[in-house]
Amino acid sequence: MCLFCKIVAGEIPSTKVYEDDTVLAFRDIAPMAPTHILVIPKTHIPSVDGVTAENSAVVAHIFEVIPGIAAAEGLTGGYRVVSNCGPDAGQTVPHLHFHILGGKQLRTDMA
Ligand code: AMP
Ligand code: ZN
Repeated sequence: MCLFCKIVAGEIPSTKVYEDDTVLAFRDIAPMAPTHILVIPKTHIPSVDGVTAENSAVVAHIFEVIPGIAAAEGLTGGYRVVSNCGPDAGQTVPHLHFHILGGKQLRTDMA
């Protein structure tokens, strides 16, 4: 089981900020901004490369819940949503996740 599947299963602790039947959001263990949350599907999808017509509903659902998570965090000034896919992007956990970053003026040099 991958690290984030273990978090979904409760085998590794996390600081949850949102959960429903298909999606879990928790605080990043090494925050890069005052608010740094990871939103993941509860099912194992390795990365953006693993999104298909069969599983994309959960990705749509992730984007449906992100605005509410951001609002609950008080990110009224805006925020960034990032998904690293593969080694060139620096993906370190092989389970699809979307970073929500905010709470400060974020740098614009994304690459
Ligand atoms: P990425 O580098 O895009 O694959 O993002 C993986 C993220 O997972 C990194 O920002 C890590 O800090 C974070 N991370 C790793 N282990 C944990 C954990 N046990 N709980 C919360 N976040 C974690
Ligand atoms: Zn997984």
